[in-house]
Amino acid sequence: MAEDVFKKIVSHCKEYGFVFPSSDIYDGLGAVYDYGQNGVELKNNIKQYWWQSMVLLHDNIVGLDSAVFMHPTIWKASGHVDAFNDPLIDNRDSKKRYRADVLIEDQLAKYDEKIQKEVAKARKRFGASFDEAMFVQTNPRVLENAKKRDALHTRFKTALDANDLAEIRQIILDEGIVCPISGTRNWTDVRQFNLMFKTEVGSTADGASTIYLRPETAQGIFVNYLNVQKTGRMKVPFGIAQIGKAFRNEIVARQFIFRMREFEQMEMQYFVRPGSELEWFTKWKEQRMAWHQALGFGSENYRFHDHDKLAHYANAATDIEFRMPFGFKEVEGIHSRTDFDLSQHEKFSGKSIKYFDPETNESYTPYVIETSIGVDRMFLSVMCHAYTEETLEGGDTRTVLRLPAALAPTKLAILPLVRKDGLPEKAREIQQQLKFHFNCKYEEKDTIGKRYRRQDAIGTPYCITVDHDTLADNTVTLRDRDTMEQQRVPVEQLQSLLEDKVSITALLKKLA
Ligand code: ATP
Repeated sequence: MAEDVFKKIVSHCKEYGFVFPSSDIYDGLGAVYDYGQNGVELKNNIKQYWWQSMVLLHDNIVGLDSAVFMHPTIWKASGHVDAFNDPLIDNRDSKKRYRADVLIEDQLAKYDEKIQKEVAKARKRFGASFDEAMFVQTNPRVLENAKKRDALHTRFKTALDANDLAEIRQIILDEGIVCPISGTRNWTDVRQFNLMFKTEVGSTADGASTIYLRPETAQGIFVNYLNVQKTGRMKVPFGIAQIGKAFRNEIVARQFIFRMREFEQMEMQYFVRPGSELEWFTKWKEQRMAWHQALGFGSENYRFHDHDKLAHYANAATDIEFRMPFGFKEVEGIHSRTDFDLSQHEKFSGKSIKYFDPETNESYTPYVIETSIGVDRMFLSVMCHAYTEETLEGGDTRTVLRLPAALAPTKLAILPLVRKDGLPEKAREIQQQLKFHFNCKYEEKDTIGKRYRRQDAIGTPYCITVDHDTLADNTVTLRDRDTMEQQRVPVEQLQSLLEDKVSITALLKKLA
C-alpha cells in the first residue's frame, strides 16, 4: 500500500516535470536525477527558505560558496580517506548488493512495527479505557519483541563499535535476514567500501594527481573558517552556511532521490567556545526542528533519532527523521563535531588555525556544531507529504499537491475563461502586473476545469479566472487550491492579498 503510494509519487514527479531520471533517453544513470521545470522551482524555494532562515535571521551567520575540488590532503585530514566507508554485503543468488548495517536497522524496525501493531490492535479492542503505558509494560508479545529488539540492538552496536565485520555478517545470519529479491540467506562476507569518487587533475598521466569529488560540503567551510572570521570580523559564536553539491558512490541506490550519487547539501557549521558545545547542540536541535515544523506537516511526522555509533569526530549526534511512505527516515543530521576537523587541518596543513577570543584574551580552537540537511531528501519529504488523491463531492477524483504555498513552483495561474472576447488580452495584462511579484503562469488551453486540475497537480496555491465581468468591473475569481472555494476579488487587491500567503517571508516570520 505505502509502496504503491511511493510509486505514484515517483511517476507524478516525472509526469509533471519535477524530477526526471538522469540521461533518460539513454535509459538513465543509477541514482542520478535531473530536476525539471517545476522541480527546479520547488528546489530553489527550499534552498531559499533554508538560506534565509540562516543568513537573514541570524546576525552572526554568513554564507560561503566553496569549490567542489579541494586539496586531496583535506580528505586525509578529515578522516574520509581512511574511514568514509559503508559495510557492504552481496546476496549470491540475486547478485544484489546491500548495506549490511541497513539490513540490520530494517530488522530492528520490524520488531518496533510488531510492537506498534499489538498496541494498535489493543487500542481498538479497549477503546477509551486503553492504557498504552501499562499495556507495553505487561503484554507478553510486546515484551518478547522488545527483548529481541534490545538484544539485537546491543549486539549490533558492539559489532559496529569494534568494526567487527564477521560479527555483522553473523548477526544477519542469526536473525534469518533474507534478500528481498531472491528470498535466500546466501550471503557473502561483509566488506568495507569507500564512498568517495576519485578523479584526476593535470593533463598528463604522470603529472596528474588524484583528487576527490567532495562527499560533504562541510570541509570547504572548515578550511575557510579563518578567512571568513578575519575578513568578516566575526566573533565566536558564529556560523558559516553553505549550499552545494556533494558526491557519494552509494552502494545501494534504490529509493529515488532519497539516496543519490550526486546530491545537494545545505550545511551550517557553528563555531563555539570549547565547553559550550552541548548547550549549542541542544539549541540547534530545537531551531532545526522548528524550521521543519513551520511548514505545517504535523509534528507527529517528525522525530529525533540519536546516534548509537558516534562518528569519529562527534561527541553528540542526532537525526531529524520524517515519516516517508517507506517509514521514518533521516532528512537532517545535527552533529557536535568537537574541534576534530579544525585540529586535524591545523595538524595536516602545519598552519595555526586558532581563534583569538578578545573577551577572554585566550587563543583556542573553536568547537563546532553542524546542521546538515540534504536538499533532495527535503524535496522528497515535501513531495511525499503534499501528494494527495481526493474524492470530491459528486464522486470526481483529483490529485493535488498540497505544497506549502511558499514552496510551490507557481504561485498563481492566470486563466482566461474563454479564448476570445478580449479575455486573453485582459489576462495577459494582469500577468504583466503581477509577474514582478510572483511566479505566475498564464494558461488558456482546455476547459477551465481541466486547467484547475493541472494546476492542482503541480501544487499551484491560487488560480484566477478572467471572465466577462472582469472587463466590466475589473474583478476576478480567485480559487483556493485546497478548499476549492472561490471568491470575487478586485484585480488591484491581488498582490497585497496573496503576498502574505505565498512568500517565504511569511514562513520566516513563524521562526522569528
Ligand atoms: P545515510 O545514513 O542516510 O547514508 P548520512 O548519515 O551518511 O546519511 P550525513 O553524512 O549526515 O548523512 O549527510 C547529511 C545529510 O545529507 C543527510 O541527512 C541527507 O539528508 C543528505 N544525504 C546524505 N547522503 C545522501 C545521498 N546519498 N543522497 C541524498 N541525500 C543525502
